[in-house]
Amino acid sequence: MGRTVRYIPAKVQQVLVLNASYEPLNVCSLRRAHVLVFKGKAEVVEELDRPLRSATDTFQWPHVIRLVHYVRVPRMVQRKISRRALFARDNWRCVYCGTATGRLTLDHVIPRSKGGDSTWENVVTSCAPCNLRKGNRLPHEVHMELSASPRPPAPVLFIRLATPKIPQRWEQYLAPYATPTRAAAAA
Ligand SMILES: [Zn+2]
Repeated sequence: MGRTVRYIPAKVQQVLVLNASYEPLNVCSLRRAHVLVFKGKAEVVEELDRPLRSATDTFQWPHVIRLVHYVRVPRMVQRKISRRALFARDNWRCVYCGTATGRLTLDHVIPRSKGGDSTWENVVTSCAPCNLRKGNRLPHEVHMELSASPRPPAPVLFIRLATPKIPQRWEQYLAPYATPTRAAAAA
């Protein structure tokens, strides 16, 4: 099927992969999805209305697949921190004052000089003034408060970041796992 796949627009070559629990895991290529289904490791839950032809056979065109066996995603080794993913997790707002305007920076809640790590649990989005005000101190030392305790983001955040235009039929699978916004987290 390699020959067929080469002429397909990139958009429909992307397949959403769900865990056995239906939690979104990642996005894979059409080829990879087809192999997983072919080997019985995944089932097609959404297909596109077009036949996927190989030299000898016709298959379902996978659009969303679900793994047959549950895969544990170890949260600790999940993903490296990037500015973009971190800002997205914090809804592009300063976790201290809530502003979404001005320059955003990364702040170590426990400063590196005091042994703070560069982990999802210790790095937050901060506006430049708050970052300056906090300096090398702990939030409570300067009477600053975090709007929510920082956590590693769910895989769905990376799916959204990696896929600028989410196909409409993916939304129903992504929506229940939306990354909580600051407002939701504070509620
Ligand atoms: Zn701020």
